[in-house]
This record gives sequence, structure tokens and C-alpha cells, in this order.
Amino acid sequence: MTSNVSNYNVDEIRRDFPIFEQEVYGKPLTFLDSAASAQKPQCVIDAISDCYSNEYANIHRGGYFLSQALTAKYEASRETVQKHINARSSKEIIFVRGATEAINLVAQTWGRSNLGAGDEIILSQMEHHSNIVPWQMLRGEKSFDIKVSPIDERGNFLLEDYEKLLSEKTKLVAITHVSNAIGTITPIKEIIKLAHKVGALVLVDGCQALPHMEIDMQDLDADFYVFSGHKMYGPTGVGALYGREELLEKMPPYQGGGDMIRSVTFDETTFNDLPHKFEAGTPHIVGGIGFAAALDYVAALGFDNIHDHEKTLLDYGLEKIKEVDGIELRGQAEKQAGILSFTMETAHPHDIGTILDQDGIAIRTGHHCAQPVMDFMDVPATARASFGLYNNTDDIDRLIDGLHKVNRIFA
Ligand code: PLP
Repeated sequence: MTSNVSNYNVDEIRRDFPIFEQEVYGKPLTFLDSAASAQKPQCVIDAISDCYSNEYANIHRGGYFLSQALTAKYEASRETVQKHINARSSKEIIFVRGATEAINLVAQTWGRSNLGAGDEIILSQMEHHSNIVPWQMLRGEKSFDIKVSPIDERGNFLLEDYEKLLSEKTKLVAITHVSNAIGTITPIKEIIKLAHKVGALVLVDGCQALPHMEIDMQDLDADFYVFSGHKMYGPTGVGALYGREELLEKMPPYQGGGDMIRSVTFDETTFNDLPHKFEAGTPHIVGGIGFAAALDYVAALGFDNIHDHEKTLLDYGLEKIKEVDGIELRGQAEKQAGILSFTMETAHPHDIGTILDQDGIAIRTGHHCAQPVMDFMDVPATARASFGLYNNTDDIDRLIDGLHKVNRIFA
């Protein structure tokens, strides 16, 4: 199938991803779980393999050829991330294990030194647990309040209600750009503007946004923006925290160890410059390089093309899923990413997942690490099909056939 989008040939793109050469239970692999983790193109696999085969050494401290060459490549990867999100400086890009670590870093450094009794932070109803639990853990010690910004029953973020929560007590707004559980794209620019009006900082969880849209830090004006490499067609175990340089400069370090120091005596330690102040220990060197390869791959395909292709898939999926009896879509916001989250009258989400799996169709079932939004929707779990840049309408047709089969089995 060739996408409607001119010069975006999804058949060719699928050939970049070796995983699609395999069959599952003798059926073609229908991978609809990219929101959990995306598949990897050959260029990312090659970048990782080349690095271990030909370029590998520890970085930053070695005076010899391999170490210096790989240090330069790792730092060039940081610049690739910086350019990808249009940050002002590569000092603003902290390599971390992923979005979860990035949020914990901000909670334990900025949060620990800036939040206290009488302060408030605002999260949204649809946050991933990784943007709830780190703040709750800190609240246990620092006694600030957590306010929850509501959504409507379709999953739309309620901007006016959010505005009412903001006050001079609000020190931080920590909100997702795109919900992993129900697909809502939040009005993040307005959210940031309104927070800044009351002097609050904004942390954006960009995990689900980065793979689907162009992200521009200078345009968004977020204070912190976090994301994971593995959802962006890159390796696991690597991601980034973007932070405004003046904030990062003032924040204390996160973990202590090698690389994050300038000098150490038993009496005193002085810390390294940004970004190294926040990167204790040997980093995921090869991960950073693989991540940059993934960003280059996605950029070469073009975000307008990816967006148009995924929008075509979403519209097709939304239309086709109506044909299935007893489906209830959970999350039908006006602005929606390529995620179909649903329940069925006949079967529990886990049963739906099991039946589909038998036909080689991989979807995610459960609470998607977002229990508060499941509670709000009054369901314990949903079935979630999520699209990546390599999905096509055949994938959706197979999903729909599978859902009809679920109805036949459980009717
Ligand atoms: N935030 C969102 C919206 C997510 O979807 C996820 C992962 O599913 C995370 C944060 C956590 O990402 P990671 O597990 O890569 O740290």
C-alpha cells in the first residue's frame, strides 16, 4: 500500500525494518504497539552494531584514538538531539535512561530544592505513572499539594478548568504532550503560556509526541521537556531531558559519581559544567549514538509526511472500527494522535489481546501505566492499538477482522 502522501512509500519504509520479515504463528506480523516501544530501522541497528564492532571504547576520559573519536561521536549525537528539538544549546540536552529518569531527575533536583509546604503543582488526569509517582514521592517529604487538571469524557483537556487551577501558589505544571493511554494531544502551547503568566515552570512529557510531530523548544517555550529513545525508533535505555540552561545551571546535581565532577577531595567536590553535571557514570554511549541515528532517519522521512500518513491511518481506523459491534472508543479528543483505545461489550481487553495475538496482531491491553485516566473512564483496562510510521491500512484491516473474530468467539 502506498500512502496518500506523495513520496511517502510505506511499503519501502517497512523494508527498512527487519522485524517485518518475520511471521508470528505463521501469520504476517501486525505490529500495533508502537506507543509502548517502536520497532527499529536497519540504520539504527547498524549504527549500534558498527559502534560495538569498530568504534567502541569508554568516552570523555581516554586520551587515545578510539576514546577520543567516540567521545566526539557521542557529543555529536547530543547535538543531533539538540537540533532535532531546536534547543538553543547542546548544554540543554541531558542524556538519561528515558522519560522516567528525566522526570525523576527534575523532581529530585529542581523539585527538592524549590517545592515546599503551601506550594502547588498541577498534573493532568491522563498522566503516565512516571509523571505522577515521582511527584507523590517528593510530596511525602516536602508537603506541597498536587492538583489535577481535568478532561472531559471524550478525553479533551479542559483548558478553562486548568486556568482556574493556576495561581501564585502554582510552582510547576507537569503535563503530557500526548496521552499514551487515550491519544489526546493537549493544547501544550497554551498550557505553557498560561503557566508562565503565574510564574510557574512547565515540564512537558513528550514521550508520545516526539515520534509523531515536529518539536521546537524555542517555539514551545517549555522549561523541561522529556522523552525516550525507544519510542522514537531508537534503542532502549536512552532518552533525554531538555532543560532551559539557566534552570539547569541553578539545579543541584542528580546522582554523584564519575564524569559529573570537576575535582574531588575528601573535603569537597566541585561539579562539572552542563550537561555533564547531570550525567554521573559511564553513559549509554552506544544508545546515544543509536538514538541520533533514529532521529536522522525520522527527520529524513519528514514530519509533514509522517503526520499526514499517520492521520490517514487514524481516520481510516476510526471509520473501520465503527463496523465492529459493541466497541466503545475510550478517548475521542478533537486532537488525537495515532492511538485507538477501546473496550468491547463481549470481551475483556486481555481476552481481546490474546485472540488478536493468535493472528500475529500485537496490541497493548491493560491500564497503560495510566490508572487515574482508566478510573476516570470507569474501566479497569482498555485495548490499545497504536500506529507508527511503518503501519499501513492492511494492519488496520487485520485488526478489524480480528475484532470481528473476538465478537464471534465471545458472542
Ligand atoms: N510518559 C508517557 C506518556 C509514556 O507513554 C511513557 C511510556 O510508556 C513514559 C512516560 C515512560 O517512558 P519510559 O518507560 O521510556 O521511561
